[in-house]
Amino acid sequence: MIERTFNILHVDDEQNLREGAKRILARMGHNVLQATNGEEALKLLPAREVDIVLLDLKMPGMDGMEVLKQIRASYPHILVIIATGFATIETAIEAMKLGAYDFMTKPFRPDQLRLITGRAMEHLLLKEERDRLSEERDRGLWDITKEKSRLRTVVDSIVAGILITDMNKRIVMCNPAFYRMMQVGPEGITGENLVELPTLKEIDGMMNDLTKGSHQNNQEITREIVRPGDRPTFVRVSVNRVMTETGKTMGLVAITRDITRIKEQEKEKSAFVAMLTHELRSPLSSVDTQLHVVLKGLTGGLTDRQREMFERIRTRVKNVLYRINDLLDLSKIEARQFTQEKSPANLGPIIKESMELLSDQASEKNLSFESELDSALPDVLGDPSSLKDAAVNLIGNAIRYTPAGGRIAVSTGVEGDLIFFRVADSGIGIAEEHKDKIFDRFFRVKDPRIGDVVGTGLGLPIVKTIVEDHNGTITVESEHGGGSVFTVRLPVLK
Ligand code: ADP
Repeated sequence: MIERTFNILHVDDEQNLREGAKRILARMGHNVLQATNGEEALKLLPAREVDIVLLDLKMPGMDGMEVLKQIRASYPHILVIIATGFATIETAIEAMKLGAYDFMTKPFRPDQLRLITGRAMEHLLLKEERDRLSEERDRGLWDITKEKSRLRTVVDSIVAGILITDMNKRIVMCNPAFYRMMQVGPEGITGENLVELPTLKEIDGMMNDLTKGSHQNNQEITREIVRPGDRPTFVRVSVNRVMTETGKTMGLVAITRDITRIKEQEKEKSAFVAMLTHELRSPLSSVDTQLHVVLKGLTGGLTDRQREMFERIRTRVKNVLYRINDLLDLSKIEARQFTQEKSPANLGPIIKESMELLSDQASEKNLSFESELDSALPDVLGDPSSLKDAAVNLIGNAIRYTPAGGRIAVSTGVEGDLIFFRVADSGIGIAEEHKDKIFDRFFRVKDPRIGDVVGTGLGLPIVKTIVEDHNGTITVESEHGGGSVFTVRLPVLK
């Protein structure tokens, strides 16, 4: 049973036959149009939607074959069923060659008409279904390709580099910005394993840290790496997991950003601060020295009032000098990040020199200044000048934050494959809630016992930067009022 209504045009000069066929087809639920000859049929077609034409071959006027030809040429979707009273194999073959769909002899019985038109209708329904499916498929494919290429275009034009790998670190995708920044490609790394690409070893390491959860909170890791070259490129890399909607890890993603320009600006700024602080330090140091000479009485006697004033001036000058030195240290370190060359270095002599530099300050405060240094300390990979800055800062703090008459002990040694350097004092100590904060820039504990100790809150952040730059750690143990112990650990050079 065919559900759809078809429009059928019956072309025949015999009225009885037309009416008979119309009754049968209408009862089947279809619309029937009629034409008595070829010309009439061809005039009707442009205005009406016709699915099937039932065509008599032998009519007055235009020949049936000619009508068939014209219908096929102008309306290829219409199925034409030929009906003729003098059916011969030859005419049938000829009509089929011209594109007729089927063939029927006249006069036809109702069941013959139903069978043959029914077959044509089924054919049309099947064709419609096929067309619909293929149209849907084409549209689907088109949508997908369009969506994919749109996404690809977006990814390719992003200024940030993107690298996506599966959980085994096989590269699934990366964009041109990534190739450029990391100096790989431009083709050929998709499908490769990250582990086998030495140029991407830092990213590989970061992905390891992320998946092993050896960093805090198991969240995104961000680090800065330097790509060598005529003009080194600084790249900030963030590594994270790629999650499905249900929270399963599908793979890993690295986003890279070129921060060379920012770094260059920072460098310019640091260089400017370094220059400025340097320019300020020289005249102030000379003021300090001259005040020292005056206070010693080398330029003649002073009244008590004059001495008191000069001493106050000297304290102020010293405070300013202290701040300038910290700023200078900071800008030096920032500048050094661009130029630093690490080589095998030994902490022994570095600590000794630092202690010598500060021994006057320690004796001024009448502090016992002891050391227990490992004489066979292995080397570390480092920059001696920064390591000395770190040591001077830590020992200097111990001296400054320990009241007169106290004790300072400096020690070095080996613990497994780490070297430690420890500064212990019997000073004012650090309260639990401040232990983390003292490594933040400009943080200073507000404690009346700090009294007139001048500072900028930059010393410990500088030390921490240096230590971490050497792949080391710094820890503090302290009790409020019970002295402090700062320990730096650095990896032994293998
Ligand atoms: P600054 O000493 O210039 O203030 P730092 O960054 O070196 O800056 O130190 C930050 C703060 O940590 C200090 O202000 C002080 O409160 C505290 N601190 C540092 N070292 C010690 C120490 N050895 N004993 C007690 N407190 C300390």
